[in-house]
Amino acid sequence: MEAPTDTIRLADLTTLRLGGPARRFVEAASADDVTAAVRAADAAGERLLVLGGGSNLVVADAGFDGTVVHVAGRGIERTDLDASRARVVIQAGEPWDEVVAWAVDESLGGIECLSGIPGSAGATPIQNVGAYGASVADVVSRVRALDRDSGAVVDLAPAECEFAYRSSRFKRTGRFVVLEVELLLDRGGRSAPIRYAELARRLGVAVGDRAPLAQVREAVLELRRGKGMVLDPADPDSVSAGSFFTNPILDPRAFERFEALVHERLGSDVQPPSWPEADGRTKTSAAWLIERAGFHKGHGAGRVGISSKHTLALVNRGGATTAELLTLADEIRGGVLDSFGIELHREPVLAG
Ligand SMILES: Cc1cc2nc3c(=O)[nH]c(=O)nc-3n(C[C@H](O)[C@H](O)[C@H](O)COP(=O)(O)OP(=O)(O)OC[C@H]3O[C@@H](n4cnc5c(N)ncnc54)[C@H](O)[C@@H]3O)c2cc1C
Repeated sequence: MEAPTDTIRLADLTTLRLGGPARRFVEAASADDVTAAVRAADAAGERLLVLGGGSNLVVADAGFDGTVVHVAGRGIERTDLDASRARVVIQAGEPWDEVVAWAVDESLGGIECLSGIPGSAGATPIQNVGAYGASVADVVSRVRALDRDSGAVVDLAPAECEFAYRSSRFKRTGRFVVLEVELLLDRGGRSAPIRYAELARRLGVAVGDRAPLAQVREAVLELRRGKGMVLDPADPDSVSAGSFFTNPILDPRAFERFEALVHERLGSDVQPPSWPEADGRTKTSAAWLIERAGFHKGHGAGRVGISSKHTLALVNRGGATTAELLTLADEIRGGVLDSFGIELHREPVLAG
């Protein structure tokens, strides 16, 4: 269904509450509607913005000079494959956290650590959403998408999705529009092994243990609320796009240089956080870098700032513009580069 454009302000459809109008706006209530709207925009040579929950988007103040297709088709279908596994097919417009709540109610394990992540199910493969040691790539068994290059609807196996840390083939190219996501979940009624120490402590279990699904969901939601990472109209720190920067992953020589710089600047007893990656590189903490470069929780005196609960979240404190937000992001990025020679990468997608 096409809406009169002057009524659609993208600020009303993004969690940052930023962004000007859409030139054309199509509400697509089913996978067929999405397919038709995207094919029509592509045939007309229009710029296209696929919109889910708007929770990982920074839209320009001038708005989007093209067609915005809002993916809104709902539906979840469960098929039990055997005593231990169920296949779950989710329409792209289904709100992700409702999917997680449903899975926990159905005693299906595998996505409980991804509780409280805003946005649509269809967007979860885009940046391979992750939290508390889990990511959606752990359970995705197929992604159905419209391939804008060929115009055909295709089924992609996990390897074809090229999932990586906060990234995938979908995020790197605008070629695919996700129509549905298929997950393989565990019917055992317990969580996947808990990999994140802070969560394991909260649950009173050892890292690697499993726990009852509902308890894991509650513990994750509680931890996230403490960081302003659950959308809540009463929490001004949740007017964000979640983490604004990803954790840098450094090759061995870059990590050595970084460590040497840390010792020189902060003292030889200071060790930067580090987690080994499977490919021999090392991940470090963007929040640690930002803090050590002098940007603390609550930073910023104006209408944009750093969340008072989470160093990685940039928030619109009310009435801000996208230009102000991006200036703050540049200031932080520049500060970290000057202090530690590391370039931070933005997690949300810019549009317009
Ligand atoms: C408070 C808060 C906490 C967050 N916590 C986390 C977290 O813990 N972990 C995490 O990984 N992320 C987190 N995020 C980021 C965000 O919630 C996720 O990235 C989410 O998956 C985005 O979904 P969306 O539907 O809102 O996508 P949108 O913001 O609408 O879109 C994001 C990008 O995906 C594209 N896209 C959306 N739907 C489709 C589709 N069907 N097909 C093709 N492309 C599509 C858009 O074009 C855009 O490029 C958080 C955000 C907020 C505001």
